[in-house]
Amino acid sequence: MAARTVKSDPQARRVYVMERRGLWGHLDHTAPLGLLRTTAARACRLHGVPPVSVTVRRMRGCGGWYEHDRINLDPDCGRNLLMLAHELAHHVTYHKHPHAQDHGPAFVRWYAHFLDAWRLVPIEGMRALCRDYGVGIAPVVRLPPPSK
Ligand SMILES: [Zn+2]
Repeated sequence: MAARTVKSDPQARRVYVMERRGLWGHLDHTAPLGLLRTTAARACRLHGVPPVSVTVRRMRGCGGWYEHDRINLDPDCGRNLLMLAHELAHHVTYHKHPHAQDHGPAFVRWYAHFLDAWRLVPIEGMRALCRDYGVGIAPVVRLPPPSK
């Protein structure tokens, strides 16, 4: 979930349904806060966006929340790598594609990238889920091979 929802966000509902039905198993763990913070910090450095703070606080109605370089995760249903990937995708999209829809194809591309990079869901699995649930995903940009 993201706080800045003044503009149109036409595929948000489909993304939530895809998560609940297709990715539910990945919500069923509790990750150490240190792992979540380290993972977020590394991703921010790697992709050249400002650091994001990660906190755990009880919220009503949602597992995670992103607003202004802050991610908050619910201790019961949000303290896991899937929710971190979702909220971190909001953070990176916000900084790299400021005019993109909150849950649009650019957001889904980053979400899928993190799930693949962290070996939770291969990118082809996310593409198949996106097809099944009618969720648009921008082409995944491959990182260039390391130079010699
Ligand atoms: Zn969201």
